[in-house]
Amino acid sequence: MSRLAYVNGRLVPLADATVHIEDRGFQFADGVYEVAAVLNGRMLDWPQHVARLGRSLRELSIAAPMSDAALSIVARRVLAANRIRDGLLYVQATRGAARRDHPFPADAVPTLVMTARPFDFRVRVAQQKTGISVITHPEIRWQRRDIKSIALLPNVLAKQSAREAKAFEAWFVDPDGTVTEGSSTNAWIVRKDGTIVTYPASENILHGVMRGTLLALAREHQFRVEEAPFTTADALDAAEAFLTSTTAPCLPIVSIDGNRIGDGTPGPVTARLAEALWTEVERQTGWRR
Ligand code: PLP
Repeated sequence: MSRLAYVNGRLVPLADATVHIEDRGFQFADGVYEVAAVLNGRMLDWPQHVARLGRSLRELSIAAPMSDAALSIVARRVLAANRIRDGLLYVQATRGAARRDHPFPADAVPTLVMTARPFDFRVRVAQQKTGISVITHPEIRWQRRDIKSIALLPNVLAKQSAREAKAFEAWFVDPDGTVTEGSSTNAWIVRKDGTIVTYPASENILHGVMRGTLLALAREHQFRVEEAPFTTADALDAAEAFLTSTTAPCLPIVSIDGNRIGDGTPGPVTARLAEALWTEVERQTGWRR
């Protein structure tokens, strides 16, 4: 079955899905996006993704391409048309096509694109047993990382460094040693006293939907949680470390820059959080491992 994409009001085969070469997304990365997980045919944390998309658009003064309700209808159409049971939904909105010039165009109509593809979350379940490694990378991004912008070049470069080092993720580190987040994931540690720590929701990081879900679950399960900065040295001294994202819901980190974390195997707190998360996934979608 050939994949279908939604482009500005039409569902078209992926190979025929195009936008204008003067689209400001292509010219200036002048746009925003969302990635939502689909499990058992249902979208996980969908209202949070819609809310974040709206916020990203507002922060950049890009007009909403359609109402939230219409967005949900189109999303479900795209998933149905591509027969997605377990997969990922991509939503991208840009300021639209206009003669190439830096200032906002007066009359551009926002571009809206949605695609979907299968994704097997059981891969993540397997990685939860083995753990993954991360490397550190200098923080080279702009200062509004809370906006889910399509300008991802620093993230792409960091992720490529990770791949070349045979690591799963790269953690961005400020000059003072503070770990902000990963190239496409939020970063967490569990201190030796059991406190779970992750960078505060500010302009310096993306407010991950999975980060929000996991914070709520951790508090619900009576874990001590701190939204506070931590350094690479803190992470190396931590009992556990892990990362979260829509596509990598809760993965234990067993090494950072080749240094073992804890005893070098996935830790018990991360395992309990992952367990709580899969229970939440099942509650929302009916999906089971
Ligand atoms: N941080 C960055 C820089 C990201 O790009 C992403 C996701 O793409 C995340 C964190 C995790 O966000 P979410 O949990 O909403 O997928």
